[in-house]
Amino acid sequence: MEKVADGVWLLRGDMRRAMNVYFLEDEGGVVQFDAGTKSMTRKARAAAERLGGLRRIVLGHAHADHRGTASRLEAPVFCHPDEVADAESDAAIAPYMDLSQLPVAPVRWLYPLLLRRWDGGPVKIAGTVSEGDEVAGFRVLHFPGHAPGLIGLWRESDRLAIVSDVVYLVDSARLRPLPEGEASVPHPAWAWDHAKAKESVRKLAALEPAAVCAGHERPLRGENLREVLERAAERY
Ligand SMILES: [Zn+2]
Repeated sequence: MEKVADGVWLLRGDMRRAMNVYFLEDEGGVVQFDAGTKSMTRKARAAAERLGGLRRIVLGHAHADHRGTASRLEAPVFCHPDEVADAESDAAIAPYMDLSQLPVAPVRWLYPLLLRRWDGGPVKIAGTVSEGDEVAGFRVLHFPGHAPGLIGLWRESDRLAIVSDVVYLVDSARLRPLPEGEASVPHPAWAWDHAKAKESVRKLAALEPAAVCAGHERPLRGENLREVLERAAERY
């Protein structure tokens, strides 16, 4: 586990250690943002215990690789209202995903297996969070597109954005990281609404973040992330 900002810890796990779970210090314990994959359950539980105990889990969105530990840890789980149905569904592949759009055949065939292996199954949602709500000193922002109820967390004081899959720092169509310093709107194969996903990347760009902690790979940092993110919105 590594400390990525004041009060923010990152646990990386599963394939290529590219799956991210964030722990946000909150009143003597931690809030877990995103829930990674099922295989990360033991490490996530230990990490939260070391940091004072798990108060609640907030899902950035409900895809299989972001809800994996949520049903297995002993804490109430929250998400955006538009994500509740998919979080509570037993489908490892969201109904709007269209994997046939992925350009590389072996990757296209691999994903259904991966998604089912990553998934921890349906998650009972205890409550919801919406744009403007506060979570562990961060403000909730709605970034619909990749998923209908995708949310990120924003902290003005150090311009830190923790954004789940609003942007990818991976090339998901080829299962490899993007070159250092690059970002991309997620591939349309995953999208609930790709036009909205592009708008959401622009919404993130307009915040002019100093660092972007995404759902996969290490945090993106730099002087000019607004430009990087504006380019990212146009990648697909
Ligand atoms: Zn996703």
